[in-house]
Amino acid sequence: MIAGHIACSYVFQRLLRLQPVNNVFLFVASYLPDIVDKTIAIVFSISGRGYFHSVTVMAVSYALTYKIISKVRPEFRQFIHLAALYYALHLIFDFPELIVLFWPFLGPLQQSGHFSLLERLYNYYVLWKYPFVLSSEVIFFTILIIIKTKDNRAAAMNYHKTH
Ligand SMILES: [Zn+2]
Repeated sequence: MIAGHIACSYVFQRLLRLQPVNNVFLFVASYLPDIVDKTIAIVFSISGRGYFHSVTVMAVSYALTYKIISKVRPEFRQFIHLAALYYALHLIFDFPELIVLFWPFLGPLQQSGHFSLLERLYNYYVLWKYPFVLSSEVIFFTILIIIKTKDNRAAAMNYHKTH
């Protein structure tokens, strides 16, 4: 999944009735594995999916961040839980290979040469190389549109009741 991660996070936030967060937080938490791994890939010219697409790295990052935030700013602990949820959703709906998901327990990561974001987007959205993953993205955006349409209708009804 590429663009669908933010739709996925928003849909789960609404379905689980979680505290709404601002869009910047939602975006960063939803794309954290890609932000880190793609940056590493571009800088070091290696594969786009890497260490931060591992459940192990996610769990260690969550535990460390939670421990630090608990000492420094305990009022922000709930955001660490939310970030961990969005991180986990990212991993689930990226459908990574098991060797990536459970790194380092299943062996070393295979590096597939250079990483090109444009090539990745072209393969994904133009050539439809990953139709299963792309269809999950379409489903989440469809649910997002339904939720937003219902919200807008409810807001319009409230507006008409009060004016
Ligand atoms: Zn990813």
